[in-house]
Amino acid sequence: MNVLVINCGSSSLKYQLIDAASEKVLAKGLCERIGMEGSQIVYQPAGCDKITTVSPMPTHKQAIQLVLDSITDKDNGVIASLAEVGAVGHRVVHGGEKYASSVVLNDDVLKAIEECNDLAPLHNPANLIGIRACQELMPDTPMVGVFDTAFHQTMPEEAYIYGLPYEYYEKYKVRRYGFHGTSHSFVSKETAAFLGKKPEDMKIIVCHLGNGSSISAVCHGKSIDTSMGLTPLEGVMMGTRCGSIDPSILEFIAAKEGLDMAGVMKVLNKESGVQGISGVSSDFRDLEAGAKEGNKRCALARKAFSYGVAKYVGAYTAAMNGVDAIAFTAGVGENDGRIRQAVCDYLGYLGITIDQEANSKRGENMIISTPDSKVTVCVIPTNEELAIARETLALVK
Ligand code: ADP
Repeated sequence: MNVLVINCGSSSLKYQLIDAASEKVLAKGLCERIGMEGSQIVYQPAGCDKITTVSPMPTHKQAIQLVLDSITDKDNGVIASLAEVGAVGHRVVHGGEKYASSVVLNDDVLKAIEECNDLAPLHNPANLIGIRACQELMPDTPMVGVFDTAFHQTMPEEAYIYGLPYEYYEKYKVRRYGFHGTSHSFVSKETAAFLGKKPEDMKIIVCHLGNGSSISAVCHGKSIDTSMGLTPLEGVMMGTRCGSIDPSILEFIAAKEGLDMAGVMKVLNKESGVQGISGVSSDFRDLEAGAKEGNKRCALARKAFSYGVAKYVGAYTAAMNGVDAIAFTAGVGENDGRIRQAVCDYLGYLGITIDQEANSKRGENMIISTPDSKVTVCVIPTNEELAIARETLALVK
């Protein structure tokens, strides 16, 4: 069965058509600037070059129509008709406490997702728009929602409750939810399989380090803690997000800089993290280049980031009373061997030693620790689209 995977943002939409049986990507691409001037669709059939077409997309419905037209196009399409799309898997950011796993979408589920809009105001409404547009264009095709928060719903109370008046949890559901759950689930399972073990027999720390970063403690196959919280702002510092800071800084900066709450939140989300420290870039490649040229703030940003990740590894080793494997994934985790090395340099006390040659490679599942390392450290590329296709297939077949 072919599964169309849709990841719909407020002005962009990423898509992949995956043959779920062979797990091959038949085509992929993205629509950009939806609802704006100059919108365009990028479409890439497997093994071919990207085709970019500028086309008006006033709403997400036109964007999805263009995706469907592209995959069924008589010259460049990869399927003959939409009848060959067996199901659509939608990434949904927030499932609140209601969804601990993926679910077939119906009116009740859409209503429940809408009720989570407050918790993810930038993401859930956009996800819903994408789902509804797809339903209109493919009314007979089953649709599945795969939630970023679902995998972390196994966290125990003591891990998800904040030290705030309990009524905020009761009234507003203010608690830790965690994100990147599809990736943490996929990578922890891949890690166990790659090491020839069952997830149930392992304690794994997944370091998803990308533009957004989160760490999770996956104990015997279940997420028991994760660094992102009510929103993706908490945890390690990221490309432009500050991560965990003293909450009093908000009031202090607001007063000093004459900012209102929205202004402060913009700084914390968009102007902080390694971008904020370096003043140069949120991209770790630029920071490395800057550091090599002697830019001390670029070097400091990379060092502070690595230190922050190492502290979470220490915390989650305590939370699980041990760790068998640490998996690095996502843009930075998969590609930046120096960051991996810098994180592991703090972890000698766990008996971790890194094989420098293995750590210099990239692009595939690999072990980067030495054979005598007490904890296995590996790089496991994440694949959220494939994970969504697998979840979708499991629910509709
Ligand atoms: P997102 O959170 O947007 O999904 P990704 O997981 O794709 O992010 O990670 C993107 C980030 O990965 C870039 O901003 C960059 O910092 C980092 N990155 C990508 N490629 C490399 C590389 N070759 N070396 C170092 N860092 C890289």
